[in-house]
Amino acid sequence: MIATPVIDLKTARNRRTPNPDQIIIAGAGIAGLTLALALSAKGFAVQIFEKSAVLAEAGAGLQLSPNATRLLDRLGVLERLISSAVQPDAICLQDGVSGANLLHLPIGSAAEKRWHAPYIVCHRADLQRALLTEVRNRANIAMQLESAVTHHKDDGRGVLVRVQYNDRIEEHRGGLLVGADGVWSNMRNAMSDMDRARYTGSIAWRASVAMKQLPASFKGLLPSGINVVAWAGANAHLIAYPIRSGETMNFVAVARDRRHSGRWDVEINPDAPSQNFAKDFDNWHPGIREMVASVGQWTPWRLFEMKRCRYLLEDRLVLIGDAAHAMTPYAAQGAAMAIEDACALADVLGDDHQAWPAALARYAKGRTKRIEAVVRRGALNHLAYHARGPVALARNLLLRNRPAEKFIAGFDWLYGFDAENPDGKI
Ligand SMILES: Cc1cc2nc3c(=O)[nH]c(=O)nc-3n(C[C@H](O)[C@H](O)[C@H](O)COP(=O)(O)OP(=O)(O)OC[C@H]3O[C@@H](n4cnc5c(N)ncnc54)[C@H](O)[C@@H]3O)c2cc1C
Repeated sequence: MIATPVIDLKTARNRRTPNPDQIIIAGAGIAGLTLALALSAKGFAVQIFEKSAVLAEAGAGLQLSPNATRLLDRLGVLERLISSAVQPDAICLQDGVSGANLLHLPIGSAAEKRWHAPYIVCHRADLQRALLTEVRNRANIAMQLESAVTHHKDDGRGVLVRVQYNDRIEEHRGGLLVGADGVWSNMRNAMSDMDRARYTGSIAWRASVAMKQLPASFKGLLPSGINVVAWAGANAHLIAYPIRSGETMNFVAVARDRRHSGRWDVEINPDAPSQNFAKDFDNWHPGIREMVASVGQWTPWRLFEMKRCRYLLEDRLVLIGDAAHAMTPYAAQGAAMAIEDACALADVLGDDHQAWPAALARYAKGRTKRIEAVVRRGALNHLAYHARGPVALARNLLLRNRPAEKFIAGFDWLYGFDAENPDGKI
């Protein structure tokens, strides 16, 4: 397995005098860091509290579609990311059993022209590092580490936020609190009427492998060029794409948790289920079986989702990213939606604080509609990826016969979207 990249956030420590009008962000994940940059660009003072001391992510890649990269570009982050990212020529879908090509969707330069921004794949740590470097450059963003937001209270003059450090508790005042605190959001869970993230009963198995170590039989399956390749099979699918300037292949395989009994609060032993996991590929193409077996360690990642998307909790408390709408990865849009959420939120906040509640209510309505459409797309992809029997045959027939141009046009609503434009048009 490739060594886990670790970003030491301690170097990002940055204090300044408290400002009661500041916007407080809980969480320095993709959503929180992007929001800090977008707010800073509009001149707001921002305070981020992050409960961890380091951001570490086990061998995970991210696909970032044009709806996200256009926003990262405006924030000056894409430029930092692009040297380690890869811009694929196409998304290819193959039958996991026969290895037959089902779909070839060009997403390289032609698509960049169509959606005015590139489709890239990268390592999540590279994106976090690029965001963080840009955050460090902004004088109006302060970041505290090892500081968890635990409580908040609206006292009419603003929001009072209680922060737990290793050795003390402090209170901070701000004009708005944004919960970018991920799938286990404290802020969301504190609301009695909110549903919590639920285990879907599926596991994403992740691995990264140096290109030169991939088995020849697997390499023989890969379509020519630089691509995101997905293999569909009954009850499982596998996705592979190059990251780290093309030196590493990132894998995500999603399959049912065979031991799932409706409970999610059962610890996974990373060794035991990997045997079961390889079984899901028993009847698959030999190149895939060999690759699955050759990878030293697959890291299990149980998939959670929220049934209900919810942004606005109170007048001065907003959620963004996974905290608002953790979703399954079938549309590869979780991080992209976090980036959209962040930029759209900064965009609706003006200088007049009195106008914020109405602006936030409009924001929540518009974003919820968008998220619901993305979740529907994810459900459709899930169905198509894991189809079996006659449904799989019908899928293969449809994919082979539908012109690629029609598939491309079918992504306009998703990739050709500008979250900073009220009507979404690019
Ligand atoms: C297998 C898999 C594959 C995926 N592939 C893709 C893909 O290809 N493309 C894509 O767009 N998305 C993808 N996603 C989704 C994406 O990874 C997430 O949607 C995204 O990382 C969410 O970012 P976030 O900032 O909302 O949350 P997080 O990254 O979880 O960040 C939350 C942060 O808040 C901090 N925190 C938590 N509680 C507190 C507190 N009380 N106080 C202060 N800080 C706190 C945490 O320490 C953390 O740093 C994938 C997800 C999975 C599981």
